[in-house]
Amino acid sequence: MSSYRDLKEIAWECNMQLPRLGLVLHTFGNASVIDRARGVVAIKPSGLPYAELVAEDMVIVDLQNNPVEGKYRPSSDTKTHTLLYRSFASIGGVVHTHSPYAVAWAQARRPVPILGTTHADHLPCDIPCTGEMSDALIAGDYEEETGKLILERFKGLSYRETPMVLVAGHGPFAWGETPERAVYNCSMLEELCRIATLTLEINPDAPRLKQTLIDKHYQRKHGPASYYGQENPDGKTGGKQ
Ligand SMILES: [Zn+2]
Repeated sequence: MSSYRDLKEIAWECNMQLPRLGLVLHTFGNASVIDRARGVVAIKPSGLPYAELVAEDMVIVDLQNNPVEGKYRPSSDTKTHTLLYRSFASIGGVVHTHSPYAVAWAQARRPVPILGTTHADHLPCDIPCTGEMSDALIAGDYEEETGKLILERFKGLSYRETPMVLVAGHGPFAWGETPERAVYNCSMLEELCRIATLTLEINPDAPRLKQTLIDKHYQRKHGPASYYGQENPDGKTGGKQ
């Protein structure tokens, strides 16, 4: 039996959440999970339909993208995932989808403005959008370069505060401290894009949320004195969900 069974099970469950949440069609999208102690990542195999996936199909690679275990090739986006794991030290999962509202904003090359408190409950700034990739880089190590494009955009931004990004012309990536949180963040990313689209349809001049409200909503959930939610068993306030 595989010694990576538990990791594959978690990765499979995260991947299977994506169609359930309406975030993927056909074979699009992929979720991965890292075991930092063992230095390996479990990720969806490339091109397999979700309906046919079983946990054992998940592919194990190391952080340099070398195959460790699995009968299939890993997702073609694996190098983007592993670069994010190497660069963002505290993340436990990465999710990529082609969910329609997030893709629409990525194709429009627009960061998603922070217009309301639903957005501020999750991140204290606009959802960032990367720059364009040059032709030379597209012809090179494309998926690695996609990761670098994200890192470039996060210069001066906290990946902990902003666990999501739009890759220009492509689509969303999200991450989280846990794989489950990465799935949640990717679904919220789609929802925030949808809400922003509707808001700007109703009023193209809708203002950004006031900074005092951004601070209030972000800090009450994520700040040092967060008070949203229930006490966790370990005594910390449960501001995360
Ligand atoms: Zn993609």
